[in-house]
Amino acid sequence: MRALILSDIHANLEALTAVLGAAGEWDVLWNLGDMVGYGGSPNEVLDVVRPLSTLTVRGNHDRVCCGLTSAVGFNPTARGAAMWTQAELSPENLAWLREVPQGPVYPEIEGDGAKVTLAHGSPLNEDHYISNMRDAWAPLQQMTTAITFVGHTHVQGGFSQKEHDWHELRPRYGGRNEAEQWTLPVPPGTRELINPGSVGQPRDADWRAAFAVYDTEAAEVVYHRVPYDLTAAQGRILMAGLPERLAARLREGR
Ligand code: ZN
Repeated sequence: MRALILSDIHANLEALTAVLGAAGEWDVLWNLGDMVGYGGSPNEVLDVVRPLSTLTVRGNHDRVCCGLTSAVGFNPTARGAAMWTQAELSPENLAWLREVPQGPVYPEIEGDGAKVTLAHGSPLNEDHYISNMRDAWAPLQQMTTAITFVGHTHVQGGFSQKEHDWHELRPRYGGRNEAEQWTLPVPPGTRELINPGSVGQPRDADWRAAFAVYDTEAAEVVYHRVPYDLTAAQGRILMAGLPERLAARLREGR
């Protein structure tokens, strides 16, 4: 079974379109949340990703943008974007977003592939960032599945542990302007926290849209980066009246 894993699309339709075009064949789509917020195309993104997603967990921006919780804790730029998004979303998309479950969730896996967990932030707390080995330690010990897919940091990679060996996972790529992929074997006995990266607002100094594909039979995760129509995505943010910084940061990948 091939699972396409998307996280942090952030209302970037151009990035989502490029990712779906580059993803090839897949059997299920696991959506790790933060579908909206920051970007200029919230309804368009939800209209595309809703029917495709096999399983979705909500992100903190999804939760605030549909009015489930306030924007306390968001910086002024994120808060402004969330308020714009809430006003922009169709009643149908708002209602759907309010029903998206909080992580962790546990998808069905066909055959004898390893069982996995899906979460937006830490599987122990949806608002916590897993940015370093210290953050990763408790989830790596406590999760009931060997593999947990998380988003939230917008940094592609993750953390791995096999008995006494543990390290950060960081895909290595050659360029910055074309589609590339990097394969991570996930043999039995390893425990992994895997972040597919952000589709719509990467923050790992690489502007290309990020995603991952988990192949349960091959026991491997393939990380991908793909270029997209950056100028169009920036134009939608500027034309919507959203802060210029939200457009500029897409080019910087941060
Ligand atoms: Zn996010």
